[in-house]
Amino acid sequence: MGIFKLPRQLLNELNRQVRGFWWGQQEKEHRIHWVSWKQMSKSKRSGGLGMRDFEFFNRALLAKQGWRIISSPNSLAARVLKEKYFKCSTFLDVKKGSNSSFLWQSFISARSLLKEGLVWRVGDGQSIDLWNDKWLPQPTSFKLQSSIRFLPSDTKVAMLIDRTTNQWNYPLVEAILDSTEAECVKRIPLSPYPTPDKLLWRGTSTGAFTVKSAYFLLLELEKQKQGQSSVAVEEDTVWSSIWQLGVPVATKNFLWRACLEAIPTRDRLLQKKVVDEDSCPICRIHPETALHALWECPSAQDVWSQSNRRIQKASFPCHSFKLLLEACLKTFDEDELVEFGLTAWKIWKRRNEVVFGNTLSHPSSINQSVKLLMDDLHQAHQPVRQCSSPSSVLLAWEAPPQGKLKINWDAGLDKASCKVGVGAVVRNWEGKVLATAYAAHQAALFVKSMGWRGVIMEGDSLQVVNCLNSKEVADSYAGVLIKAARDL
Ligand SMILES: [Zn+2]
Repeated sequence: MGIFKLPRQLLNELNRQVRGFWWGQQEKEHRIHWVSWKQMSKSKRSGGLGMRDFEFFNRALLAKQGWRIISSPNSLAARVLKEKYFKCSTFLDVKKGSNSSFLWQSFISARSLLKEGLVWRVGDGQSIDLWNDKWLPQPTSFKLQSSIRFLPSDTKVAMLIDRTTNQWNYPLVEAILDSTEAECVKRIPLSPYPTPDKLLWRGTSTGAFTVKSAYFLLLELEKQKQGQSSVAVEEDTVWSSIWQLGVPVATKNFLWRACLEAIPTRDRLLQKKVVDEDSCPICRIHPETALHALWECPSAQDVWSQSNRRIQKASFPCHSFKLLLEACLKTFDEDELVEFGLTAWKIWKRRNEVVFGNTLSHPSSINQSVKLLMDDLHQAHQPVRQCSSPSSVLLAWEAPPQGKLKINWDAGLDKASCKVGVGAVVRNWEGKVLATAYAAHQAALFVKSMGWRGVIMEGDSLQVVNCLNSKEVADSYAGVLIKAARDL
């Protein structure tokens, strides 16, 4: 699957097998699939389960092969393929060819996905078409939207860079671009040394390709193709909150299904023509929806009336269980939400005991079992919380070994006014301050100019520190500066 484009029939069969397994289907037995495959294959943030649709997954895996050809052009496979299929061109530009192998056709089939996800990181600007390529760190087009003026249509980005300082030519940038795009361009960091341009993957913060990000980009593109708007922010919050709740996985799955009206209530069974009427099996008065079974039914209210006082007093005029949960998320604290989720789950189990066992347990026994479960969960989560607490980490400056210097650097960002404050201090092994400078790169530059050797750099940005320590070239927009600091 990672090498060849599989036939659609086979991919559909694989999807069918996974669907059947999820709903507990045995061989040729038929079970109701309460949630559509389309919904299940959405990401968890968008209301799905993050199940991989095999057709899309196949394409994401093939896109990875294309990424390898582009990012490792000296690998044996990339050199062989270049020699055979794109000797005088690039992988992204070459035509498909009619007599090519199945392997090559498979790689080419995922190239459109790769083209969608790739953006240029500006180095010297020699390889990037100013007006046509994607190089602006600005969704969704990543291309310039300003109309072409003054400069010809085949101009390279290098035209906007001052070769003497290796920085943007501000007057020219402001002259040819509208003010918003000019500001965006001026914020792109440039290396003080000539650096080649590089293609980055926009699906990750590091700029490196991952199959997971390619898969979800493909889903997003399909959605746009079908003219669907992106998912509302509030809806994302509900789904994310369910999966982050400190309750057992079975409870999370239950809440997710209840929000989608995907539990076998009488109302849904009537829609599926399994039963003839939709009245609640306990009160026998109202139609049984998820909201009724778990919240509105008098038998459910008997249970809620014995729970936490804030939950007891809660009054949410809602039309569905999902809206009820949304209201709870805005009102309750974490412990109350856990109690709410567990109680709803237990109420459903109690309702099933009535339907299948004809026994209705006392409301207090439900609350009792919820409290026991909450105590267990608290105990289980306690050690993890202690370990992850940042306050438990002692932060103190440590002197470098004798004969060495240490640079401590930090940066602050004011998003409102788009201003950055950066600073660094150089101290010797006795803790004596030798100099102050700004930014990791500027500090390194300063140290070099002073001719100091054996310097330790210390900062609080994990990503920057990792990149500085890594031998790999950092694949992010700021990677050019990190490389420049490391080269010093
Ligand atoms: Zn009822």
